[in-house]
Amino acid sequence: MTATVAFLGLGNMGGPMAGNLAKAGYRVVGFDPVPAAADAARTAGLDVTPSGTAAVETADVVLTMLPSGRHVLDAYTDILPHARPGSLFVDCSTIDVGEARAAAKLAADAGHPTCDAPVSGGVVGAQAATLTFMVGADDSAFTAASPLLEAMGRRVVHCGTSGAGQAAKICNNMILGISMIAVSEGFVLAERLGLSAQALFDVASVSSGQCWALNTNCPVPGPVPTSPANRDYTGGFAAGLMLKDLRLAAGAAAAVGANLPLGQHATDLYRAFVEQDGPGRDFSAVITGISAGTLAPANPEETS
Ligand code: NAD
Repeated sequence: MTATVAFLGLGNMGGPMAGNLAKAGYRVVGFDPVPAAADAARTAGLDVTPSGTAAVETADVVLTMLPSGRHVLDAYTDILPHARPGSLFVDCSTIDVGEARAAAKLAADAGHPTCDAPVSGGVVGAQAATLTFMVGADDSAFTAASPLLEAMGRRVVHCGTSGAGQAAKICNNMILGISMIAVSEGFVLAERLGLSAQALFDVASVSSGQCWALNTNCPVPGPVPTSPANRDYTGGFAAGLMLKDLRLAAGAAAAVGANLPLGQHATDLYRAFVEQDGPGRDFSAVITGISAGTLAPANPEETS
């Protein structure tokens, strides 16, 4: 029997992910309160309902792809009384570890197995079904969710129990945010020392400085023709989303008493950058603020 998936949140990520589930043969019933998102999903051939509660009534799986933890908790509170008994709840949004565990508990207390399954790969990965899923779930919920996630992605990693997927996501993205700043400082210093960007790239990309921020998403135009720097930092992973993930990491660090000076400093630099440049350009554009010297010093954010 074809499984029915209620898909809540048909935005930049959720719209194409829901489309890939439908292509894989699932019956998808979508909901999004923003008419433009709902209309785009309808135009793409999805069945869209007027409410989240209507979407979950017949669903075997309830999948959410929402902006924040508050949205997930509110949505769960709204839909749980209407969900089919025992249906699987999978949240793919990037949210705080504590809120992910709270949402999972709400669903578990109502008798539903749950997974947190945030993604990396961005809109391009959502469209091409090449996302990586980081999953926090017990073994049986992971086994139940895997075929569904494999229809939307290329890699599905079981990271541990509830909240472990979100923990993996924010730790990875904190490493990425810090490493992009490190790579950018390397290029800025090279330029001031009269060393060409290409020469630094030729050395560092095959030496101990190599990393994804340098080798794939190089923040200066030229050395990696596909990096967003070659198109004025359009496309790619938006600086505003990097700031969101750094804030989640800083909040999680504060909650567990981990002192992470570079994670905190990266949060402050990205906050200053987003205030100056806006949230929309690729996060590698932070090099322009570092080069201009306008980002530091910033007032540390309160994270607790
Ligand atoms: P988006 O704002 O484009 O889409 C979110 C959608 O959720 C919106 O259309 C909104 O109307 C809808 N929504 C809000 N409340 C709802 C509810 N109660 N029921 C149904 N729909 C509701 O955001 P996005 O870029 O698709 O990102 C979604 C999540 O994925 C975020 O948590 C984000 O951090 C994460 N993420 C995004 C990217 C990316 O590159 N965009 C990459 C990785 C992870």
